Amino acid sequence: MRIVSDSETPQAVVRTAIILNGPPPPGKLYSLPVGRFGLTSLNTVESTNTFRGYLEELVREWMRCGKKIMPTDSNVWAIGRGGPHRYSDKTEWTLYLVPEGLGFRKPESLKPVDKSDPAFSSWLWKVYWDYLSRVQPSIWFDSYGEVSFQYSTSAFEDPGKPTALPPFLDAESAKSPIWREAVLWFILLLNSGHAQLLDRCRFCGNYFVRRREMKKGQSYKRGGPSCANCKGEGSKARTTAIRANAKNRMLEVAAKAWAAWKKTHIAPNRISAVAERVNAECLDEILVTTRKHRIESLWVKRNEAKILEHVERNALRKGAKRNAKG
Ligand SMILES: [Zn+2]
Repeated sequence: MRIVSDSETPQAVVRTAIILNGPPPPGKLYSLPVGRFGLTSLNTVESTNTFRGYLEELVREWMRCGKKIMPTDSNVWAIGRGGPHRYSDKTEWTLYLVPEGLGFRKPESLKPVDKSDPAFSSWLWKVYWDYLSRVQPSIWFDSYGEVSFQYSTSAFEDPGKPTALPPFLDAESAKSPIWREAVLWFILLLNSGHAQLLDRCRFCGNYFVRRREMKKGQSYKRGGPSCANCKGEGSKARTTAIRANAKNRMLEVAAKAWAAWKKTHIAPNRISAVAERVNAECLDEILVTTRKHRIESLWVKRNEAKILEHVERNALRKGAKRNAKG
């Protein structure tokens, strides 16, 4: 027996990235293959844009939670119930975390759920479970032994009042088929088996599809994902920072030499005395900033204003220390 679902393809991730990155070209509409009818929200430009906004909220929250909807190590049975009749109309959510004493797991293998995990308190898992409990998939058994598990749009039915809302929607708007279809597509995306490939570029903000899934425990070495267009941006930013640091160190050495200089017969010229000191102390820094092995007096002349700023700052700092001591 095989379970077939029409969203179980990497194409689901590609389509999601395209939709999130912008509205369709003029005169065109997006389509998402869900059931026989597709999603009705993508039939007009206006509703498509609302749909895109909702989908992006879902995807961003999911990414904020580390691409999970539940906290790590939770084994969850989630039920949302309306409040006690006449006492409260607030939904009460019950989260059973690996029921103790049920015996299907050894107690020592139970880990406490990490409450600091952003997924623990997220609205996302509530919205997710709420949708699944209100809208059921259709299941199709065929004579070849295949079982198709299919969701269709719920735009033509009334699945009743939602018990969970995201912070940006009130109860009335959450009843809209557009929101329901956005949640449905999000669920299908997660079920596609390739959702982890979806990423958002930290430089341009575009959504893109990674080539490979990240290995377990692997993390971004340089602060976050970047799309193919922005691949070099991270190293450019690093080079700029390294150069700025090197230049700063040269100015600092120059400032100390400047302040320490006294006219003697060995060093009759302040500018060249400063240059000599920088050459003696800043070999690596000179290479990084000028691609040369030494600087000439001209470097000191060009940077005189900045060197004097450093001299002044150092003098102030010294004065402040002396005052604090005295
Ligand atoms: Zn980018």
